[in-house]
Amino acid sequence: MKTFAILTSGGDSPGMNCAIRAFVRTLIFNGHKALGVRKGYEGLIQNKFIELSASSVGNIMQRGGTILQSSRSEEFKKKEFREIAIKNLKDQGVDGLVVIGGDGSFKGAYKLWEEFNFPVIGIPGTIDNDISGTEYTIGHNTAVETAIQAVDKIRDTAFSHDRVFLIEVMGRNSASIAIKTALCSGAENVILPHQEIDYDEIADSVKRGIQRGKKGSIFIVAEGAREGRSYDIQVKLRDDYQIQSRVCILGHIQRGGSPSPKDRLIASEMGHKSALALLEFTQPLITAVHSGKVIEVNFSDAIHKNNDEDHDYLHIIKTLSI
Ligand code: ADP
Repeated sequence: MKTFAILTSGGDSPGMNCAIRAFVRTLIFNGHKALGVRKGYEGLIQNKFIELSASSVGNIMQRGGTILQSSRSEEFKKKEFREIAIKNLKDQGVDGLVVIGGDGSFKGAYKLWEEFNFPVIGIPGTIDNDISGTEYTIGHNTAVETAIQAVDKIRDTAFSHDRVFLIEVMGRNSASIAIKTALCSGAENVILPHQEIDYDEIADSVKRGIQRGKKGSIFIVAEGAREGRSYDIQVKLRDDYQIQSRVCILGHIQRGGSPSPKDRLIASEMGHKSALALLEFTQPLITAVHSGKVIEVNFSDAIHKNNDEDHDYLHIIKTLSI
């Protein structure tokens, strides 16, 4: 019988619990033992392990967040603390570790392999869908769905009062949530994370809308480097173009909530395959979606990416918002 551990790190995302459940039950089904690490790498350093039984992961699939909790650990970036983490893993008799998180968490996990030859498998879990080597990261679909539902509600007010709304969605480096939300909610346009803002174009689009009798306009703003960026845009539109607008920042509601069927499905398959990958471990891998199927790819492929493929939608958004 072998013992494997699992942790969740960085920003939480809906579907992480489905992956934990599938990992634990696959190990137990195959006669092995599963441990959970509380609060990501912080828990690894502080030796916070708990045994996960089949029943301890019951009734969690439908819950957002992560039952193991997550953290950001500055200490783990230092080798001396990773040495403590490895000692704890070995003292607990752990033969391999699954890390669910984003590219930062993957960098940390990869160091455990590079420095100590410790077996690691990654499961991409972040609402931003910004990890290379995979077409999909757990939680993205639920976050987009939440954002679309929120925009639909705001649209009721925008159109009842002829208002211009700037709706800010999450995405520091990734425009994925913003672009999909804009297309699926019929927004007039989308402002990307690091894009220089073309105010003339925004003003033209508002005026065009008014001329053809449109009641209200909606612009989706990706938060970019700083939450609250929409307030700067609001001031500029007011002062330079005499356009009054309202700002709505969706914030953390996009992170939470019950995972969508797509997230449950992919997370369950990834959790299952991560357990099998540890049982047959030869090298660090991440579970990834390729052409719609869950497979394993080399860990080193999983570095940060910008989701350029979503940029193909920009032309459609513009065309449809005439
Ligand atoms: P995410 O995994 O969602 O991208 P972060 O970038 O905040 O989130 O990373 C989560 C944690 O992973 C960090 O708090 C840190 O403990 C660990 N980590 C990130 N980058 C590194 C690195 N280069 N070396 C070691 N650990 C890292």
